Amino acid sequence: MLKYLTIKLRIVNLDKFEVIYKENKIKIQDKKRIKKELEGILGAGNVSTEEIDLMAYSKDATLLTMNWTIEGKLAALPDFITWPEKTSEISDILKLANKEKIPVIPYAEGSSVVGGSIPVKGGIIIDMKKFNSILNINDENLTVTVQTGLNGMNLERFLNAKGYTSGHIPQSLYTSSLGGWLAHKAAGQFSTKYGKIEDIVMGFEVVLANGEILNFHPIPRNSTGPQLDKLFIGAEGTLGIITKATLKIWPKPEKRALISYSFSSIEDSFAATRNILREHIYPAVIRIYDDSETERHFEDVEKAKGRIMVVFVCEGNKKLVDLEEEITRLKCEEFNGIDCGERPVEHWFETRFRVTETSSMPPYKIIFDTIEVASLWDNAAKVYHKVLEDMNVLKGILLITAHISHFYPNGVGIYFSWGGVPPKEMTELEFYQEAWDTVINAVIDSGGSISHHHGIGINRSHWMKKEWGNAMKYLSKIKNLLDPNDILNPGKIYSNTWKRGE
Ligand SMILES: Cc1cc2nc3c(=O)[nH]c(=O)nc-3n(C[C@H](O)[C@H](O)[C@H](O)COP(=O)(O)OP(=O)(O)OC[C@H]3O[C@@H](n4cnc5c(N)ncnc54)[C@H](O)[C@@H]3O)c2cc1C
Repeated sequence: MLKYLTIKLRIVNLDKFEVIYKENKIKIQDKKRIKKELEGILGAGNVSTEEIDLMAYSKDATLLTMNWTIEGKLAALPDFITWPEKTSEISDILKLANKEKIPVIPYAEGSSVVGGSIPVKGGIIIDMKKFNSILNINDENLTVTVQTGLNGMNLERFLNAKGYTSGHIPQSLYTSSLGGWLAHKAAGQFSTKYGKIEDIVMGFEVVLANGEILNFHPIPRNSTGPQLDKLFIGAEGTLGIITKATLKIWPKPEKRALISYSFSSIEDSFAATRNILREHIYPAVIRIYDDSETERHFEDVEKAKGRIMVVFVCEGNKKLVDLEEEITRLKCEEFNGIDCGERPVEHWFETRFRVTETSSMPPYKIIFDTIEVASLWDNAAKVYHKVLEDMNVLKGILLITAHISHFYPNGVGIYFSWGGVPPKEMTELEFYQEAWDTVINAVIDSGGSISHHHGIGINRSHWMKKEWGNAMKYLSKIKNLLDPNDILNPGKIYSNTWKRGE
């Protein structure tokens, strides 16, 4: 009986679903033969064309796709799902796909929020989850070498058990992988001290579209010509598939200091945090919440009512942490910060992986999303105010709020959250695109950069020319050189899949 039920549940009629990006799909001739060839490379158990599997890989965590799912719509449909276990197998799949001009989409945990892993042109999904081994840990060098399909939490648990941390703790730690981090140039919550993934990775192996395998060996630094390796970090699977990487690790911190202050304006909170960094003090965590987010996350904190909450975590060697805490407090008080104690930071630790608000809105037909951008300090307040101003007058918008969670002596990453209901005359996608246009244009007009850490995917590709200027022409030429048949994750970065104005 159970067996019968299982079989029944796997039957899906995909014809019943509206597919949003169906116009882009590339028709594959002789699918049966391609499937046989894939099975020849991987074994029959590691290849699927079952409709239930195709459906599972039709979307990523781009929040609009949640609204679509509730309405029985799919973002896009792949043709084959594959689960390779060896680099040589990935190389063979790419050789076949390159010969047949079939799109290939590396797919890790599908937590991209910009459509990075949506198979907009169909093709072969390479699911990286079997690339999950920890290959080596080296205490003397403070490095760990792992396969890139490894889940983030599994990596951090392994390191913690041995007395280390990678220092890379994105909010999606439980649902993302090293490969996805490298592809999207991810940033973790402790990034102000430990750096972003590009600061943490030391070397890696990558398979090119023609199946060739390159190895960039881990080394603390070198002076050996242009840094070709950096080209693959942030390439979102469009230039190669990264199969293993060596990362920096750190001994687990001896002490943690939890600090929070509230400020009367976003400008004062910027001044305090900027001046902490000018002292060469890098709290692992700094998070500024604007007044709306302060109300949302810290409604019980009396001293933060109607104000801007800032939480800090300083960690590391005890003596250094004590000094960092002292200077952090001095700077906050210099800009009239009010000490709110440890509790708000404990609350942040308790809730930092909670994202229930994102899934609670689609059932009410509310479209919710987040857009993170970057700015130098002298433009940061302008970027923040301009985005709020422009979004607040957009028809259908119900909320626009922000927090700032990645800090540099020279600037910040600002993270906007917005929600709204499409006006009658617009489809969900049109409203979503309108909101994205409004935020990104406001950021560009105020001198910011269009993304801090979520990447380009589908959502931002039509602003790439504006962001990169003349350099975009050369980036496209490099793509063409490395992937002349445009098989690697097509429809992203270099394409205008949304067909919006340039
Ligand atoms: C709730 C939530 C919280 C989040 N928090 C953060 C955060 O704090 N910081 C942050 O930076 N991001 C965050 N994100 C975004 C997301 O987790 C990151 O973009 C993450 O890096 C994606 O990893 P993934 O393993 O899920 O990759 P996927 O979504 O599967 O793939 C992402 C991209 O990487 C490519 N890719 C995957 N593996 C490889 C590989 N081995 N080689 C080459 N290309 C590859 C894919 O083709 C795709 O283009 C969050 C997302 C969610 C849903």
